[in-house]
Amino acid sequence: MNIHEYQAKELLAKYGVGIPAGIPALTVEEAVAAAKQLPGPLYVVKAQIHAGGRGKGKFKELGPDAKGGVRLAKSVEEVEACAREMLGNTLVTIQTGDAGKQVNRLYVTDGVDIAREYYLSMLVDRASGRVAIIASTEGGMDIEEVAHSTPEKITTITIDPAEGFQPHHGRAVAFGLKLSGDLNKQAQKVTKQLYEAFMALDCAMLEINPLVETKDGQLLVLDTKMSFDSNALYRHPDVMELRDETEEDPAEIEASKHDLAYIKLDGNIGCMVNGAGLAMATMDIIKLNGAFPANFLDVGGGASKEKVTEAFKIILSDPAVKGILVNIFGGIMKCDIIAEGIVAAAKEVNLSVPLVVRLEGTNVQQGKDILAGSGLPIVAANDLGDAAQKIVAEVQKAA
Ligand code: ADP
Ligand code: MG
Repeated sequence: MNIHEYQAKELLAKYGVGIPAGIPALTVEEAVAAAKQLPGPLYVVKAQIHAGGRGKGKFKELGPDAKGGVRLAKSVEEVEACAREMLGNTLVTIQTGDAGKQVNRLYVTDGVDIAREYYLSMLVDRASGRVAIIASTEGGMDIEEVAHSTPEKITTITIDPAEGFQPHHGRAVAFGLKLSGDLNKQAQKVTKQLYEAFMALDCAMLEINPLVETKDGQLLVLDTKMSFDSNALYRHPDVMELRDETEEDPAEIEASKHDLAYIKLDGNIGCMVNGAGLAMATMDIIKLNGAFPANFLDVGGGASKEKVTEAFKIILSDPAVKGILVNIFGGIMKCDIIAEGIVAAAKEVNLSVPLVVRLEGTNVQQGKDILAGSGLPIVAANDLGDAAQKIVAEVQKAA
């Protein structure tokens, strides 16, 4: 789960992390009131969407010459003008995709006199089984680009969970940021605070870009993105309250209500699979056959008729879907039960696109018989390769 910048900053402030003063606003009036509470005379008005690259983003409605989603304002009147232009309009950034995201919230913050911008992030690194800290002197810009063209400017350290955060970790980060004197001490301190927050809140990722050095020698978190391990959210009801469903894909929200792992993708072949590994393999083999999956969908081990029906509905709610591939291994659930579920669900949702089904496992023959006897135009497949070829052929035929 992701949260907004202002929410993440409010959480980090509780761990002692330095942030510029700021107040969220849902309306132009609130933005003006927020600016009046801040010391001024420099303000920054920031679009709150769950995507980065806002500064360089463009508003769909405002044309190419208008300013982006992070704007400097030199008076309360300018804050008002910015808020009026930004609220309700659609911001397109490198991270939103072409559709962009509607801006429904702003964050009005103190303008900071920046001397330098740094990069600092933490994430759960599966390869090492540890939390990795990534630091770079090249803040404010696209870190992927820095990693690609100047990897020597990036310092990565990992922390053994049994050892926890040690002073040498802080020193390594401060050294990587090439800081000396008091700033070096501040960097050690903020790294420790961020790590404490990361662990205590069960974060999956915490990115500070930029961490800035102000002209008067302070290190402040100017922008942050924070995401949480969904499996640990039950431990953090206060974090759960920060969820903003308007930022999420409606189909993904619906899927989570039915305990289905669904992620929308860009292709046109809907996939219904049990098990994440099989779902990944299914997407791979669709691509191998020259088409693209419309989604990742794992119905889980105990796929009941209800779950299969919901999964069909969710897949079909995507207008891009031109065919569905069901690839299910009947292990915990037997193939005949699954086949009954598929037939009932296909009838209930009035399936209008080609459906290819590959079943394997316990009672597979009974399952195939049920599909064949259903009277529905279900194409049976023998194995994964066969299934992928058949669905790609069906979709091309229909196009
Ligand atoms: P994004 O990464 O989504 O573009 P940021 O919050 O990182 O948004 O803002 C982009 C840039 O705008 C920053 O790198 C920084 O140079 C500038 N900026 C952001 N907030 C402030 C602020 N409070 N004061 C001064 N400059 C800011
Ligand atoms: Mg940023």
